[in-house]
Amino acid sequence: SSSSDVELRSPVICIMGHVDTGKTKLLDKIRKTNVQEGEAGGITQQIGATFFPDIALQEQTKKVGTDFELEVPGVLIIDTPGHESFNNLRMRGSSLADLAILVIDIMHGLEPQTVESLELLKKRKCPFIIALNKIDILYEWNSKPYTSIQEALERQEQSVRDEFQTRFQNVVLQLNERGLNCNLYWENDDFRTAVSIVPTSALTGEGVPDLLYMILKLTQDLMADKLEVQEELECTVIEVKNIEGLGTTVDVVLLNGTLREGDQIVLAGLGGPIVTTIRALLTPQPMKEMRVKRLCLMCVSPKNEYVTHKQISTSMGIKISAPGLEDAVAGTELLVVGPDDDIEELKEDESILNDFEKEPAGVYVKASTLGSLEALLSFLQDMKIPVFDDKFTKYMEKFRESQKTETRKVAVFPVVLQIDKQHIFRKQDPIILGCQVVGGQLRVGTPLCIPDKGNLAIGH
Ligand code: GDP
Ligand code: MG
Repeated sequence: SSSSDVELRSPVICIMGHVDTGKTKLLDKIRKTNVQEGEAGGITQQIGATFFPDIALQEQTKKVGTDFELEVPGVLIIDTPGHESFNNLRMRGSSLADLAILVIDIMHGLEPQTVESLELLKKRKCPFIIALNKIDILYEWNSKPYTSIQEALERQEQSVRDEFQTRFQNVVLQLNERGLNCNLYWENDDFRTAVSIVPTSALTGEGVPDLLYMILKLTQDLMADKLEVQEELECTVIEVKNIEGLGTTVDVVLLNGTLREGDQIVLAGLGGPIVTTIRALLTPQPMKEMRVKRLCLMCVSPKNEYVTHKQISTSMGIKISAPGLEDAVAGTELLVVGPDDDIEELKEDESILNDFEKEPAGVYVKASTLGSLEALLSFLQDMKIPVFDDKFTKYMEKFRESQKTETRKVAVFPVVLQIDKQHIFRKQDPIILGCQVVGGQLRVGTPLCIPDKGNLAIGH
């Protein structure tokens, strides 16, 4: 295409799927692709993400489509597969990823978290492709590292190809049962209506060139508009981390716009919006061959672990150091206060629980993730069950404590509900026993009669 006059940013890619399907290994393999073949590649480790520049991608895509033209400067792949912030992304917030890779184990087919991921992707309206992984496990598979998948399949004995077909058809059938149309990517003639399947091996790298090719083809062909470089800031907090010597920092993915040292920023906090000033913009210490675009003035931080930047633009994973970030919430948007902006208005946008009415009497709600809390509150709203106001402060304290522990890394938490003492219940009042948020949807436990005690704490 002739869109050479518009500048495109790098698409941002997320990897999702059931545990042990090979998400981490696949990412590793993609990262090693060029290294293993003895090229510099210029692949750079960023904060929470890996950047693959066009030159590193070209080598691989050539194996699949010789006349394929790269229009984006590279691809940014989010490192933490199935990152919790992806689940927690705000309902009204922008989606973190332009495209997702859903990994399915060819031997296991659809598994519970595959289904959850599918539901989540549907809800976020996030386009995706499927990596049908572990093809090398097929009996008597004959492997040759990093070859394109069609070449790899052609190389196999008939019996191997038959087994592939059987297992592939099985997975397609399971996906069809979920209302999903899909096809092998090279047999897919409508990327808009059918999901493309790329068979891969994270062990041998077979199909990895195809995976990169498809990421580029789909993002360039179907979302060029979305990838046009925008002035307006689009920045998502993916992690809140305590770093020795820096205090609490936030890791962000900057999709669009520019962040500068000294910028005043607004982001969502558990106790309300946080207004602070960027003290430092950090990226990991670069490797020798690092090729960083659009960076002004670089200087090495005292700890030699990070490089600080005066400013950074588009498609980058960045660590932000700033005072007062202790309460920041992952999965939310970060805003910069411009000269014409009204801080109060920006703060309003960053108030997490604004959308929900609270009453002086009602049920008391606790949850261990923001996503669960939002889902639970919207459920209670739909059921016209009043939510008690006061105790939100207590919830916040508890959550703040739990954020300091490892437990926040678990994707699905039970939601505990307590009935407020003062609330008067009638005979037929519904009570929620226990519920979980699964794939962004609330699953509610068995309804229960209200006990005389009036105070009920039910958990798992
Ligand atoms: P994750 O939980 O989805 O991140 O899965 P991992 O990447 O940790 O992989 C789970 C296990 O499957 C590990 O023992 C991997 O070595 C293995 N594995 C992953 N991908 C492949 C593959 O393509 N072929 C084979 N044979 N093993 C794989
Ligand atoms: Mg993993």
